Amino acid sequence: MKMDLRPADAVSRRDAWREKREAALQRQGSPLGGGVLYLQHVTVSFDGFKALDDLTLHVDPGELLCVIGPNGAGKTTMMDVITGKTRPDEGTVWFGNQINLLALSEPEIVQVGIGRKFQKPTVFDFLTVFENLELALAGDKSFWHTFAARLTRADRERIDAVLETTGLEAKRDAPAGALAHGQKQWLEIGMLLMQEPKLLLVDEPVAGMTPQETERTGELLLSLAGRHSVVVVEHDMEFVRSIANRVAVLHEGRVLAEGSMDDVQEDPRVIEVYLGA
Ligand code: ADP
Ligand code: MG
Repeated sequence: MKMDLRPADAVSRRDAWREKREAALQRQGSPLGGGVLYLQHVTVSFDGFKALDDLTLHVDPGELLCVIGPNGAGKTTMMDVITGKTRPDEGTVWFGNQINLLALSEPEIVQVGIGRKFQKPTVFDFLTVFENLELALAGDKSFWHTFAARLTRADRERIDAVLETTGLEAKRDAPAGALAHGQKQWLEIGMLLMQEPKLLLVDEPVAGMTPQETERTGELLLSLAGRHSVVVVEHDMEFVRSIANRVAVLHEGRVLAEGSMDDVQEDPRVIEVYLGA
């Protein structure tokens, strides 16, 4: 058989393929907008109880979105769905226009650029701040491999940049175990930054922090927005007010209200279920 792949054929084949792909994306519900994350009609049931109930929410590029809501509203479940820990019964979850997160494993979701900070720090106490960042740089490479390999100049510069962002320059050679609670949390955020995530998910970042640490954490999260999209789940209303641009209020597994902090605080439904409580 004669292979006759003239450029015109190649182009038309590529166009046909692109059309097919876009049609497939449409069918699967990809929003094809300019956003970073789209949850659409997501439902998660635990023994018939809906922790998420037809939840629809999006995150824009570079924005800092605060998600608030009473205990049991579904905030942590939402994070679990985005990171692949929990699979929804219904709905779609897209990362940008191309990546269907429901088709990916947890490690794959980290690979495509989603970092999650849990409340409990997972830093290595016996390593220095610098070494913890070095380890985070390696990602899934083994521990010993990391320390056997020499850092490139670019690696060092990246670690230095993260030390500066997190305000930990002076603690660079201190063992992580010697850090104050707030500093440990910032190191943990720094470790996530080493992987240069497009989207950062942060669950209750200021729990247990002093007022000073809380303020510094707000500054840090604000400084990350723009270069990263950041979703912060938080109970501390004062803190949310100090950093929030857009706020989504979750209640019974769905978005009850969305807008500026002033808008949602004035919303009678929000006052009833949350702020007035
Ligand atoms: P939030 O983080 O907003 O406090 P969660 O997402 O942790 O809320 O929980 C939402 C609801 O789902 C709660 O009623 C909780 O008890 C329930 N829930 C969460 N995880 C599970 C689970 N693994 N099994 C059963 N119920 C769960
Ligand atoms: Mg929670």
